[in-house]
Amino acid sequence: MNAVEIKNLTVSYGDTPALNNISANIEQLDFVGIMGPNGGGKSTLLKAVLGLIPIKSGEIKIMGDTSKKAVNQIGYVPQFSNMDRSFPITVLEAVLCGMLTPGLHPFFRFSSQMKERAMEYLKMVSLESLCKRQISSLSGGEFQRMLLARALASDPPLLMLDEPTAAVDPASKELIYELLERLNKKKTIILVTHDLMAISSNVKRIICINRGLIYHGEPKLTEDVIKELYSSPVDLITHEVPHRVLEGHDIRQCSEEHKKEDV
Ligand code: ADP
Repeated sequence: MNAVEIKNLTVSYGDTPALNNISANIEQLDFVGIMGPNGGGKSTLLKAVLGLIPIKSGEIKIMGDTSKKAVNQIGYVPQFSNMDRSFPITVLEAVLCGMLTPGLHPFFRFSSQMKERAMEYLKMVSLESLCKRQISSLSGGEFQRMLLARALASDPPLLMLDEPTAAVDPASKELIYELLERLNKKKTIILVTHDLMAISSNVKRIICINRGLIYHGEPKLTEDVIKELYSSPVDLITHEVPHRVLEGHDIRQCSEEHKKEDV
């Protein structure tokens, strides 16, 4: 059984097409990087899998299940920039919210076991000392780590993250990647990222989308795939990233020709 099966998925926002006839299977315990240009449909793909937006056609199976409850098996780390950081709630309470299930009693209270478990997840992301802080006082990197702890709180077999290392400090970034690597021993991970370092050293397979599926396979990108993906010549200089990602290109030629835009 695959963790996620996407078959002929098409999604539009009114007249705006976002995804066109995407098919992809993600195996259990895979670590998949989703790449593509801004507006290419990466977030839409995650939201469609999560059932947050209606799909025009196609089918999505999560752990073999097409029913709505299948999404309970997913921990989701949304894009940091879309979050309301002023909500009056402590770090611990935010992580506890990740344990909530539908149909709660109105007088529900979190048990001490739940609080202990939430503290364990905060420890994993090195935030236990900040558990009583309001989330509004966290730095960008701390906030992102809190979101990760919240996504882990229900111990889901599948974790989906939308650019978790955008706008975070290098220490948080390293911590997040190290943790994802460890979590991948027991969980399937789907990571939307522009970060070639992650693509190079963490992910096992990549999915490249620009409305349609451009590439799904080993994390090795040819110049042709990159051109099709980004619809324009881009700089293939990888800033000391090991060359597992990019195949067969002449760095000197690329840097001379295309100093405008970074991949
Ligand atoms: P990415 O995550 O790759 O940057 P998105 O999935 O956010 O791309 O967007 C894909 C396309 O759908 C873009 O053209 C974007 O403008 C459009 N889009 C995304 N969200 C909405 C929305 N809520 N309403 C209308 N159009 C949207």
